[in-house]
Amino acid sequence: MINENYIEEYIREITPGNNDFFKELEDYAEKNNIPIVEPEVAQLLKVLIKIQKPKKILEIGTAIGYSSLIMAESNDDVLITTIERNDEMIRLAKKNIAKTKYNSRIDILEGDANELLEELNEKYDFIFLDAAKGQYINFFDKSIKLLNEEGIIVSDNVLFKGMVASDKLVVRRKKTIVKRLRKYLQYINEKEGYISSTIPIGDGVSITYREG
Ligand code: SAH
Ligand code: MG
Repeated sequence: MINENYIEEYIREITPGNNDFFKELEDYAEKNNIPIVEPEVAQLLKVLIKIQKPKKILEIGTAIGYSSLIMAESNDDVLITTIERNDEMIRLAKKNIAKTKYNSRIDILEGDANELLEELNEKYDFIFLDAAKGQYINFFDKSIKLLNEEGIIVSDNVLFKGMVASDKLVVRRKKTIVKRLRKYLQYINEKEGYISSTIPIGDGVSITYREG
């Protein structure tokens, strides 16, 4: 958690909760330590999708399908392609997505994003980057080839428990990830033709807009 408790609690209090189906997924994720988007970030995704009205979304990092479903729910005809390499997560995501009316609009690509991103040749309006944090620059470079002009990339966990913003918080075994995330934030902020905003909600989120 990167915010003061009282800020996060207050924002959660004023944000309407999800329905029982989503709550079940949230409970499952919490019990099993699966890092799904935090409620404030889920809400941000919904609002961004309402504003931008993407026709096609690419997600990197499906886990149990929670954020895919949040995004599918935000817009009636958006198509989502989501990449996941972990077999158990793929199984759970399929099971969860099959229970919903969004089944036909969410396509899970099974395998490593590094390879799959190179094989894709469709274009997307909105990309949600939420997989291995140490590889964000790599994922970003591969993703922007698939991003339409005026498209956006949302990257999750960019402040990584606050460690990215303060050396005092960095624990030794996370040093490399933190270093890489700092490089990533610098990279997207300096990237020509793109404009980024980093928002301290959830675990830190960046929104990167590709100029038209
Ligand atoms: N977006 C989900 C959470 C994703 S957690 C949600 O908010 O609901 C990150 C997931 O990315 C994990 O399930 C992990 O297995 C997957 N992942 C990590 N690196 C990957 C890679 N290189 N290729 C494909 N999936 C990857
Ligand atoms: Mg995340």
